[in-house]
Amino acid sequence: MNIGYEILNRLKDEIPNIEYNRYIKQLSYDEKRSSSDRAIYIAPNTLVANYIKTKYSDKITHLFEVKTSNKIVVLITTKEAKKNIKKVEQKSIDKTKHSLLNPSHTFDNFVVGGSNQFAYAAAKSVSEKPGDIYNPLFIYGGVGIGKTHLMQAVGNVLQNQGKDVIYTSVEQFLNDFLRHLRNGNMDRFKDKYRKCDILLIDDIQFLSNKDSIQEEFFHTFEALRNEKKQIIMTADKQPKKIGGLEERLKSRFEWGLIADIQPPELETKINIIKKKCEINRIKLNNEVINYIATIIENNTREIEGILSKLHAYSKLMNIDITIEFTKNVLKEQIRENRSNITIDTIINIVAKELNVKPSEIKSKGRSRNIVYARRVAIYLCRDLTTNSTMPQLAQYFGMKDHTAISHTMKKINELIKNDEDFKTKIDELTNKITSS
Ligand code: ADP
Ligand code: MG
Repeated sequence: MNIGYEILNRLKDEIPNIEYNRYIKQLSYDEKRSSSDRAIYIAPNTLVANYIKTKYSDKITHLFEVKTSNKIVVLITTKEAKKNIKKVEQKSIDKTKHSLLNPSHTFDNFVVGGSNQFAYAAAKSVSEKPGDIYNPLFIYGGVGIGKTHLMQAVGNVLQNQGKDVIYTSVEQFLNDFLRHLRNGNMDRFKDKYRKCDILLIDDIQFLSNKDSIQEEFFHTFEALRNEKKQIIMTADKQPKKIGGLEERLKSRFEWGLIADIQPPELETKINIIKKKCEINRIKLNNEVINYIATIIENNTREIEGILSKLHAYSKLMNIDITIEFTKNVLKEQIRENRSNITIDTIINIVAKELNVKPSEIKSKGRSRNIVYARRVAIYLCRDLTTNSTMPQLAQYFGMKDHTAISHTMKKINELIKNDEDFKTKIDELTNKITSS
């Protein structure tokens, strides 16, 4: 496979499937006109080209850079617009002179909640006193919960003060190392990484089982730390749980401060959506915001995709973003996210949260709290599972027929409409189930 398509394949892993299938798949790579410092993709029309350009060209550029250790200009254009390539190219070249830090990854744009307040406080204090006591700062947690954002927020603060900040991934560090090794200029490599003021290195778990680069990273680490230069790392787990990592690295990673980020609570998700709306100047009402918060899983990365999709569709069709519109547009996404939610998962979570036994929910028990839990469970099954029909649910819950289910649905819908507290409870349960 040529590199143009290889990069798109990598992009596939990072973005929602539906986005890939709908837009990225339409790109063809113009191998003839691409070179080692520019990549040209052709889209079928300007709409698709612009959409991909605004949403994904930074990502594609980054993937190229990781792969080739080269700053490369990525052009997404149409057949008709090929003539204009020169002009666009000049613009993109200017852009790549900037650092790789994402300028919108700032502290101001970061929403603080229970799940991340410790890591936030740690990052904030490192930005005030880099190279001091919290060195290295090690941030860990699941995918898409703000590790890179927080790390780059520190980077942005310090870069604005004129400090030499390097942001890199393990893969990029490795590629850079190999390239310098091949060209016989390792001194340049050492200069670059050991003389910077701040080293941000993302997803450090990828050092695992890569012995030669562990060795090199060890020396970089030592050199920087001896000079009181700040190092920040992120990973998907804490140092001692990273397998295939030299002991001396593991122990050094623990010398400074280790901060975890937990999956966001519903409220934090809501606030992140509000923040993203503010940044992207998108107006959404609270009902829509709450709805989006309940359908996304723990991965906050989905938010931006959802917002730009809603925005694009509403512009295209010239209609307001109502709750019905949102549900309609996001149907496919929800189906994808929820395809693995089972009735048993729902029953277990509802039982736990409402203090009854799972077997009681499925029983014919008539005591008040059991009936209540059963109704909630039925409602959530109907709402959250993608392929359970009313007759199936009736059978599962030992009810006469599907009319009993639709009766329950009606009751719960009424409650949701009239009882704010009940609605919050349902939202919270939904959040627990979709994040499980
Ligand atoms: P990670 O590195 O943990 O996989 P990222 O830092 O790339 O996740 O975050 C994914 C997306 O979610 C980014 O767009 C980021 O800005 C956003 N995000 C995550 N957490 C927050 C937060 N607490 N406040 C604002 N945006 C956030
Ligand atoms: Mg990250």
